[in-house]
Amino acid sequence: MPRSPDVVVVGAGTFGAWTAWHLRRAGHAVKLVDAFGAGHSRASSGGESRIIRMGYGDRTLYSRWARESLPQWKQLLDEAGRPDLFHETGVLWLGRDADPHVGATALTLDRLGVVAESLDPADLRSRFPALDFTGITRGVFEPGSGVLLARRAVNAVVDQAVRHGVDYRVASVDPSGLSGGADALRLGGGARLSAGTFVFACGPWLPALFPDLLGPLLRTTRQEVFFLGTPAGDRRFRPPALPAWIDFHAGAYGLPDIEGRGAKVGLTALGPAFDPDRGDRAPSAEGLAAARRFAATRLPALRDAPLLEARVCQYTNTPSGDLLIDRHPDRDSVWLAGGGSGHGFKLGPAVGAYVAARVAGTVPGEDLVGLPAKRHGQERTVL
Ligand SMILES: Cc1cc2nc3c(=O)[nH]c(=O)nc-3n(C[C@H](O)[C@H](O)[C@H](O)COP(=O)(O)OP(=O)(O)OC[C@H]3O[C@@H](n4cnc5c(N)ncnc54)[C@H](O)[C@@H]3O)c2cc1C
Repeated sequence: MPRSPDVVVVGAGTFGAWTAWHLRRAGHAVKLVDAFGAGHSRASSGGESRIIRMGYGDRTLYSRWARESLPQWKQLLDEAGRPDLFHETGVLWLGRDADPHVGATALTLDRLGVVAESLDPADLRSRFPALDFTGITRGVFEPGSGVLLARRAVNAVVDQAVRHGVDYRVASVDPSGLSGGADALRLGGGARLSAGTFVFACGPWLPALFPDLLGPLLRTTRQEVFFLGTPAGDRRFRPPALPAWIDFHAGAYGLPDIEGRGAKVGLTALGPAFDPDRGDRAPSAEGLAAARRFAATRLPALRDAPLLEARVCQYTNTPSGDLLIDRHPDRDSVWLAGGGSGHGFKLGPAVGAYVAARVAGTVPGEDLVGLPAKRHGQERTVL
């Protein structure tokens, strides 16, 4: 008779995969289940690429977690034989005098000992010729940060977790089977999964799984990204000439041309509500027009660039943009890990370590990510 796992982790996105990995390394018997498989196209972790940056304004917790996460990503990808899934492109923050976020980012990075260069407009123009810096008065450059090839990286985490003994399977969990003191989940098809602890790392599916608790707190929004074709033979759009860049003041960010897919442009304004199962993933004409308008000002050589590819994904937003990681208030055996709010991918390793430590009771809760700090109607303060 096989031993039932100590912990079942539901969801093999960046949060669930790294949680399973850390729980296993801490000695637990772990089962990891995902309804569609790790890094699938409907998951938030299923995008081609995600920025890993250390800067978070004055939110030191996330800067610390990002700093802890990057070496773990690198080590795991090395062990998986896929170091190519991290590109050290550097990350460039575009700042204006009136933008306190970039100033606070520079201060926090300095305090944490993260290497970051402060650049004036002349430096910016000479180092990054594809970008137009009109209106930008300073840049903060993180040379060691970069881009994770997300979909494949999260698969590598699951592969490594399995190699270390995590039992992984594709199955859909029906949480209605878990109530009060019950110790089992029902799977689609009627099978049951028993454990002492359950971690739900279900990204944009969390509000539907826990509608009373999380319905009012998590808002899932449709977000689009566009890959624009760069001119033939033009190296200005590849790293190191073009790093990943962030212009939060203008509500946009971009990635260099990696693997010849084109320069990626994303807008950060929150889109309409989105159903992760059934939502239409055809890109919108308005979204493309907005991305092109932005590209025309910041990446002028791409003004008339052809669209090579577009992806529709979803953010799972908490009101403030802080992550949501906590024990379920009415079910002692259940933990929740989600609320990635458009910035969670990079933090998977630190989130996984934190969840594993919370389950073991070895660290206190961080207020910022706890349930009590989440209130409907809060202003978004995490960028
Ligand atoms: C366009 C876009 C750009 C982004 N850019 C960045 C970036 O540059 N940097 C960054 O750090 N972050 C970024 N993010 C955010 C980041 O991608 C997310 O925060 C992160 O991927 C969330 O991971 P997750 O594990 O919480 O959720 P997911 O990746 O969605 O994983 C949840 C998993 O749970 C499974 N699941 C759900 N319900 C069930 C069930 N009942 N039974 C079994 N399995 C279930 C799903 O199948 C899914 O695989 C971006 C997001 C988007 C959409």
